[in-house]
Parts: sequence; C-alpha cells; structure tokens
Amino acid sequence: MIYHKTDEEIELIRQSCLLVSKTLAHVASILKPGITGLEIDKQAETFIRDHEGAVPGFKGYNDFPATLCVSKNEVVVHGIPTNAPFKEDDIVSVDCGVYWNEFFGDAAYTFAFQGVSEEVHKLLSVTKASLYRGIEKAVPGNRIGDIGYAVQTVAEKENNYGVVRELVGHGLGRNLHEAPEVPNYGSRGRGTKLQEGLVIAIEPMINLGTKRIAQSDDGWTISTRDKLQSAHYEHTIAVKSEGPDILSTHDYLEESIKNNDYLSEIQ
Ligand code: MG
Ligand code: MG
Repeated sequence: MIYHKTDEEIELIRQSCLLVSKTLAHVASILKPGITGLEIDKQAETFIRDHEGAVPGFKGYNDFPATLCVSKNEVVVHGIPTNAPFKEDDIVSVDCGVYWNEFFGDAAYTFAFQGVSEEVHKLLSVTKASLYRGIEKAVPGNRIGDIGYAVQTVAEKENNYGVVRELVGHGLGRNLHEAPEVPNYGSRGRGTKLQEGLVIAIEPMINLGTKRIAQSDDGWTISTRDKLQSAHYEHTIAVKSEGPDILSTHDYLEESIKNNDYLSEIQ
C-alpha cells in the first residue's frame, strides 16, 4: 500500500528532514580524528531533543540502540556507534532519522577525513553523483526502475563499483519505512509508477569492490565481504508535478565541512 502525501504532509516531512540535515551539520562540525561514534551519537541525540517534540527516529526502531547509524570504512550501513576513535584516513557514513510532528525525516552522508586516498575519494564523489542522477528520474510518470537504473548506470556501468542489492531506499512518512522499495539497480520503465505526492528516500550504497555484503553477529552492522570501503548518501524527496522536491539538504553539512580542517570536501 502506497500512501501519497498531501502538500501539508510533505511540509511536515520537510521540517523533519531539515532537522535531520541540521543534525548532520552539527555532526560535521565536531568530527575529528580521536572523537568516537558514541560521542557524535550523544551530541546528535541532544541536538534533536533540543527541538520541542522531536525525537531520534532510529533509536528503538526494531531495537536499534542509537540515534545515528555510524558506518566506517568497510561498513556499508547500520553500524552501531562505538567507543573506537576515528582515524585520519577513515571514511564515516552517518545516517540520521528524526520523528517530529508525526512524520519521519531521513538522510545520510559519508564524510572523509583528510588522509583518505584518492581512490576512495572518487568512490564518495561517484556515489554522491549517483544519488542526484537517481533523484532526477523521480518525476511523475516515470517508474521506480528508472531511478535504480540511473544510480546503477553511474556506479556500476561507468565506474565498475559494486551496487549493494540487499538494502534499498524506501517510502516514508508516518512510518520510517513504507512502500515502495527503492532499489539502487533496475530496468528503465519497470516497477511502480511514480505519482505526485510520493515521498521516498533514495540512498545508493556503493562498494569500491564487489557488491557482496555480510551481516555481523550484532544483528545490525552490514559490511562488504571483501573489506573494501563502501559509501552511502541519502536524501528524502517528494515527487511533484514540477519535478523532484528534495526535502532534506546537504547544504548545511557541506558548510560545516568547509569550516572543519579535519574533513575533506566531497565534490
Ligand atoms: Mg537513512
Ligand atoms: Mg533511509
């Protein structure tokens, strides 16, 4: 069952997404080698709860224990924050959800410290580009497969990276995960037809090596089998007659990156 949203509902989802975006910007302002996932998680939770009525969207969801998913290097997604300090050649994907005024918001960004290799930097740039190529296809009359095809073309065909198959984007609104699923692969003209009012999270998960992944014993952490790095970028968008409306934004966090000497900008 797909719930198409009214303009009023979309504006509430935008508010939740903007709070997610500002939380990610706060995270980007404090990231440095030596800080831990637990510390950024604690600060993110405080930042969210400082907004009247807002609560972390992931904490307690299927018993997930934290506000942020913090996924380092070979971890694809769903990493649980730990007390291991970040190092100057780490990449760190931070995924954040918020529940506010009865609606969820969801966005993610993979940060790079200054010591990250050019090869891994390129993985991040390409994954970020694949997200926007997917978003461009989110227009009324297109189908879910058009989004996945666009992401897959950039990542797999043009750059020979591994596109994770088992984890996908999703509809969202009053629930964090709603129909339809939004895979990062697909065929043009296939799948659910996109209609005005559809709100979906598009989130390419792209591996430097093969697409193969494994789940750890903690029941959450998803890593690459070959232990090579993986990148993850996510926006929540609404399908509108005039085109895709990106409800989350990376603008705030990219401003934080510019002002943080430990982080490297992702073009
Ligand atoms: Mg997310
Ligand atoms: Mg998501």
